[in-house]
Amino acid sequence: MAYVNDLMERVVKRNPGEPEFHQAVHEVLESLEPVIQRHPDYITSGVLERMVEPERQIIFRVPWVNDAGEVVVNRGFRVQFNSAIGPYKGGLRFHPSVYIGIIKFLGFEQIFKNALTGLPMGGAKGGSDFDPRGKSDGEIMRFCQSFVTELYRYIGPDTDVPAGDIGVGGREIGYLFGQYKRIVNAFSGVLTGKGTTWGGSLARPEATGYGAMYFVEEMLASRGDSVQGKTITISGYGNVGTYLIEKANQMGGKVVTIGDEYGYVRDPEGIKGEKLDFLMDLWCVYRRPAQDYAREFGLEWVEGCSPWEVPCDIAIPTATQNEVALADAQKLVANGCLCVAEAANMPCMADAVNYFLEKGILFGPAKAVNAGGVAVSGLEMSQNSMRYAWTFEEVDSRLKGIMKEIHRKSSEAAKEYGLGNNLVAGANIAGFLKVADAMKAQGVV
Ligand code: GLU
Repeated sequence: MAYVNDLMERVVKRNPGEPEFHQAVHEVLESLEPVIQRHPDYITSGVLERMVEPERQIIFRVPWVNDAGEVVVNRGFRVQFNSAIGPYKGGLRFHPSVYIGIIKFLGFEQIFKNALTGLPMGGAKGGSDFDPRGKSDGEIMRFCQSFVTELYRYIGPDTDVPAGDIGVGGREIGYLFGQYKRIVNAFSGVLTGKGTTWGGSLARPEATGYGAMYFVEEMLASRGDSVQGKTITISGYGNVGTYLIEKANQMGGKVVTIGDEYGYVRDPEGIKGEKLDFLMDLWCVYRRPAQDYAREFGLEWVEGCSPWEVPCDIAIPTATQNEVALADAQKLVANGCLCVAEAANMPCMADAVNYFLEKGILFGPAKAVNAGGVAVSGLEMSQNSMRYAWTFEEVDSRLKGIMKEIHRKSSEAAKEYGLGNNLVAGANIAGFLKVADAMKAQGVV
């Protein structure tokens, strides 16, 4: 479609050297072609042009002092992409690969993901090229304090509510929150993922992993199947991966791999019991490599390969962007994999996604599959506004309801536009329509 091609060209030209951002925008624009054809007013109102341009981008210096007494300078980012349906909302990523293109791709995806949850949250993302690996507690604290000393002026409980992402968990949220509270002299719901004794929601740590499994169960149910008895491969073993394993076990599935950038370990008996207890702390507490799991339990370590070569029924990438290439997708399909669900953000490369769709694999896109994390963040905001705390069961049952709804909305949108069971397009369309209609209603702003 000429309009979409032309807009995509302008996005590439205007945002040079940001391939991840181009990839994320391309996927959404492609999905929207049938919508724009049916409703040309989305062109005339300039909604798409506005949507691909962040409302605000903040880049700042983060100076801090390491344990050796040396001054270190990192770069901080916050991209406030879209506030049409609520305050900006999205995580912070601390990882050496972070640059503006990564934060823009994540912020762009967050717009649609947050809309899909049905909760009033706009889209944003932030972070830093700071590498938390090998840093002491004191260094992490001083970095977080410096980061928020600049960021505080742009965020707030009704403006922008950051949370965690890769490299940012409960400990980092604590240091960020403490410094923010000290600066503004107010105890507020400015961050989510807080500890439960100081405004956090029960079930927030579990939310992304649990939510992903609730979504997978819905996908399988659409084909009269279930997680019971299925063999599952995953990659990352941080906050998302570990709780995903816990829920998969409860559902009667068996998770047989974890991996990292160096290789993977295969555990044919399944990761459960004391092995899962060990894994829970491996990254989230100690930031240790996956090979430690193989060593601890006498399992084989496969260096330099990815877990996608292991035969499975369900593959769930849980690490990072572009971790599943076309060759991996081909191996998965050849080995009889029937369902792929993206629990990380944009883990499958575009040609891998197309391959899965072509082969009729049940494919769950990240914006839908991993929306459980931000959904419970939204519930944390609600609880903070009420100055109240729900029980674990209350939050978990709302999460389950939200994931079911996301699946229903995505598959209905795909059907309505004649796209069969294409949940990639369905999720993009359902998320887009909510935000686009809000933008139209609010005029050209
Ligand atoms: N970083 C998570 C995501 O990718 C959670 C964001 C949040 O809770 O605000 O959706």
